[in-house]
Amino acid sequence: MTLRGRLTAAFLAVAFGPVLFGAVFVASTVTAVDRSRATERLAVAATAVRTSIDALCQQLRAAADAVALAVDRPGAATQVVGRGIAAAVQVTDVTGQIVVATPNAPPTPWRDCAAPDRPDGTFAALAVRVELRDGGGNPLGMVTAAHPVDPMLVARLAAVTGVAVTLLDEAAPRVTVAHSTESEGGREAVLAAASSLHEERVTSTPDGRYLRRAGPTRGQPLPLVLSVPSDQPAGLYPVLVAVVLLAALLGVAVAWRLARVTTRPLVELAGAVDRVTAGDLTARVPVRSGDEIGRLAEAFNRMTRETGGYLAALASSRDQLRGHLAVLGDTLASTHDLQRILRVILHSALAATGARAGAVLLTEPGGGLVAQCTEGLDGRRSGPTAPRVPLADSVVRTVAATGQPCRGRAETTSAEEPPCHTYIAVPFAVEAGRAGEPGSGRPGEDTPSAALARPLGVLALYDRLGGEEFDDDDLATLRTFAGHVAVALDNVRVHEEAQRLSLTDPLTGLWNYRYLRESLRREVERASRFGRMVSVLVLDLDRFKKINDSYGHAAGDTVLAEFARRVRGEIREVDLAFRQGGEEFVVLLPETDARGAAIVADRLGAAIRNTPVTVPGRAGVGHSIRFTVSIGIAVYPDHAESGLRVLEAADEALYAAKAAGRDTWRVARHTSRITDPGDGEAGVRRTPAAPPTREMPVTAAACSPADGLPRAGPGDATGTSAEPGEPG
Ligand code: GH3
Ligand code: MG
Ligand code: MG
Repeated sequence: MTLRGRLTAAFLAVAFGPVLFGAVFVASTVTAVDRSRATERLAVAATAVRTSIDALCQQLRAAADAVALAVDRPGAATQVVGRGIAAAVQVTDVTGQIVVATPNAPPTPWRDCAAPDRPDGTFAALAVRVELRDGGGNPLGMVTAAHPVDPMLVARLAAVTGVAVTLLDEAAPRVTVAHSTESEGGREAVLAAASSLHEERVTSTPDGRYLRRAGPTRGQPLPLVLSVPSDQPAGLYPVLVAVVLLAALLGVAVAWRLARVTTRPLVELAGAVDRVTAGDLTARVPVRSGDEIGRLAEAFNRMTRETGGYLAALASSRDQLRGHLAVLGDTLASTHDLQRILRVILHSALAATGARAGAVLLTEPGGGLVAQCTEGLDGRRSGPTAPRVPLADSVVRTVAATGQPCRGRAETTSAEEPPCHTYIAVPFAVEAGRAGEPGSGRPGEDTPSAALARPLGVLALYDRLGGEEFDDDDLATLRTFAGHVAVALDNVRVHEEAQRLSLTDPLTGLWNYRYLRESLRREVERASRFGRMVSVLVLDLDRFKKINDSYGHAAGDTVLAEFARRVRGEIREVDLAFRQGGEEFVVLLPETDARGAAIVADRLGAAIRNTPVTVPGRAGVGHSIRFTVSIGIAVYPDHAESGLRVLEAADEALYAAKAAGRDTWRVARHTSRITDPGDGEAGVRRTPAAPPTREMPVTAAACSPADGLPRAGPGDATGTSAEPGEPG
């Protein structure tokens, strides 16, 4: 049963119960009062009947006495009848012979007023007998005065008593009605109840009458039934039933309405809750009142509104995080720019944890920590140029030293630590398995893959927005980001290594031809943009075939490696040396003109020529091998306008040097703006080398960085100031 059904039933019981009870009470009370009044009226009527009959009998006795005492009895009898004192008078002698009789006497038998309690037989008149006696007291006869028992008498009794009077004829085998003032229907009702009537007991009939017997008794010999109609208002019961039914209908309607009014907000609330359950947080319920249900509706609306707000905030933060993750993923996937990766990871970690500031610190080989990337730390430098002092003396260093993450509230901050209230720091390291890979440690010392190698650095965040401490969730998040940093670092390292390997020559350690093309393009472009020069030296060992033939291929290799070492030793850090193939080499000299290149060529020739190479020979006997190099020089933009053309020009110059007897250098003919080398001429002019007058300063031990990709041009490397005329 629904709540509305139960409430309807309850309201109905409350409203309809009293109505029903009242109706029953009214009906029973009215009935009781009616019966009591009828009983009273019938009692009074019975008394009146007895009195009337008694008076009639007294009157008849007086008439009989008067006739008996009269001398002229016939005359007295006539007189009595004439005055209406009796209806008939008879005088009989001792034998019972009628001696005097008034005319129009009622038919006999007559019932004596002094008849016993329940006399039998039928009668037509009431009579009183008086004895006639002589002076000696001897009986002479009887005087009888009579009054007819007829409808008039019954009507008179009814008039006296005020109730309906019915005279029964009980002499017949069946009781019948002799005379009655009742209606036809009333007579039948009286007759039906006659047998069960007793003196003084009031009986009601189905048609709403009250009956009571009045006689025959001593002194009242007439078998009378007194009856009164019920005083109850006509149609009381139907009215009451109608009222009850009406009340019931009204009750149902009102109860249903009340139940509906009461349950409607609840139904609306239940519907709204269903919608919220289905995910619709825009569901609201109307607030119809200020009562408890109204307050409930208000609270519900507030709840859904705030939940919607929270959800929107959550969704936006999720979108933000998704955006950060996308950037992070893109960055990790697409770049090996470590600074950019660290910056993106740090930004993502800050966004994910809601921190104000943070830093990524990497450990230095010496054990110090360097802030590679910072955010929100005012005035602190980061990146490769950051000072090599630990950013934090306590927290971050402890984390780096112990390899354990750390979080909490900063009670006191050290001078080197950023001023903060809360902090969290996690170390990161490549997995031991990766750490054992070439270039990152000693092979063969792999620990289980879960173990971490020495921390590569620390990811630290400061001051969570809102002032709360960083919690375990933040720690888990930060571990993830620290893992990203470690992987990114490792990837960059591996990438750099792979790139280096793909661009270097394994025998000499110099850059290979592939990197030569790339470097040539880049340096020529740079020179073109800044209006500078690039010199290209092509070097070819003289009669190298002979060395191979004389000492073996391995000795030739040793010579090649030593040659490369010497070349590296003779050029600046910004210069680049390549093995073009076989025993041919190329050196790029950024920001160097032909004169400077000639100086370098001179020095290179001398460095090769002056010191023989010792190679192990057969049976442990070493051979000292002397060898020389021929060099061709071309300069961008003097000899050609593209890198490859400059290289070709240098090649031509090399042939010229070979042709000139080897162990020397030649500069390409000054044919700037050559566009078509196949125009019939060689494209270069073999000119005798002008004596060098100027050179870029060169550091004796300068060489290309062995572990990173070289960058030519002015930078922070030492010895690159282009002071003209200053010898190296
Ligand atoms: P030239 O003065 O005209 O340059 O004479 P050359 O003998 O140096 O010139 P040629 O081109 O005839 O010979 C080059 C030789 O270099 C041939 C080859 O056997 C040798 N060579 C090329 N690459 C290597 C190498 O990687 N190792 C060794 N050992 N020899 C090499
Ligand atoms: Mg050669
Ligand atoms: Mg050669």
